[in-house]
Amino acid sequence: MNTATRLVSFDAAPDDPFAPTCTPIYQTATFEQDSPECFGRFDYSRSGNPTRGVLERLLADLEGGTRAFAFASGLAAITAVTRLLDPGDEILACDDLYGGAYRLFTKLLAPRGVAVRFVDFTADAPLPISPRTKLVYFETPSNPRLRITDIRRRCREAREAGALSCVDGTATTPYLQKPLELGADIVLHSATKYLAGHADVTAGAVIVKDPALADRLYLIQNGEGAVLGPFDSFLLLRGIKTLALRLDRQQASAQRIAEWLDRRPEVARVHFPGLHTHPGGDLHRSQSLGPGAVLSFEITDATAAPDLVRGLSLFRTTVSFGAVGSSASIPACMSHAPIAVDAAGPAVAPPPRGLIRLSVGIEDPGDLIADLARAFEVVAEPRHRDVPRTSGVDAVSAPIGAAS
Ligand code: PLP
Repeated sequence: MNTATRLVSFDAAPDDPFAPTCTPIYQTATFEQDSPECFGRFDYSRSGNPTRGVLERLLADLEGGTRAFAFASGLAAITAVTRLLDPGDEILACDDLYGGAYRLFTKLLAPRGVAVRFVDFTADAPLPISPRTKLVYFETPSNPRLRITDIRRRCREAREAGALSCVDGTATTPYLQKPLELGADIVLHSATKYLAGHADVTAGAVIVKDPALADRLYLIQNGEGAVLGPFDSFLLLRGIKTLALRLDRQQASAQRIAEWLDRRPEVARVHFPGLHTHPGGDLHRSQSLGPGAVLSFEITDATAAPDLVRGLSLFRTTVSFGAVGSSASIPACMSHAPIAVDAAGPAVAPPPRGLIRLSVGIEDPGDLIADLARAFEVVAEPRHRDVPRTSGVDAVSAPIGAAS
């Protein structure tokens, strides 16, 4: 079965006596036991819940894994993976990644003895894996520069060195890319984005193939308790059903918009793996079925970026991506502010302040392009060019945690 079929063809309600076609929301914390010693299939919703169980089985199936674990957020999912490490171990992470992952690694894990090193995973050289490296962690396409890492190669290097490999697959989803099938040990998602698709639920997921690794992750999920609730599991199941339709439309529109932006004189660079000029385009096509629908671009006058984003109306200014509605953000002062404020931290270049990230939704692409054209006209007006711009959020003063 193709992924688009699997998204809607699954057992939505195993064991339910009424055979509903949608998964019921088992909004209960406890399940009655036959006796104190006999726990039955479910006993407590942190340990297992039927609604979450359907979701986890579906996610495992979509990714080609054996088990999946649904968490209360994408960051809870990342945190769970890092719990596989002990003090003294090291994470080798790509140097273009979600700011919240950077904050977790540097602010919360490093002081507790789990070291982190950031390197360019797109470089020709082999990964500088050390005997301490226990986790190789990356996003591809990365966020927000849309750089492409060779999944097969980097996961093979990790395996040969005895480290686990983990791919954050948020931007592509299993509809476009299946890292477990390319050699990754772990794939994780901020399901808040494309999987849910409507910006109405915060959720995360971890999926693995190896049953022993799955047992360790289940212990972490149940033992630490950051599970996804029944109602959010239901919302995520509902969102997943339309993933193929949404992404087909979104990435076709993103392609048009990227090509349009590429021709604009105000734009210095467009980052989008669907453009034939993208340095990782061929590699991306060898491991993914499409370019996705997130793109970023750098404008020649970086100081105009806040006004440009403010000048948009169909693209809403939000930190996240992957929803049916389009959005625009300046990662340097929003999703990636934790990197920008940490000038003294490990070597990760914060995103340029003139880099704008677009998440393309399902609106009419012509309307979206017209929206962008209007915003470019607004910033080109003389009064916008002459007034000193002090009103944008200042990445340097943005408090850690202020933005997602
Ligand atoms: N991974 C990526 C690539 C993200 O962009 C985000 C959030 O923006 C996360 C993980 C964290 O997910 P959540 O916000 O659901 O905790």
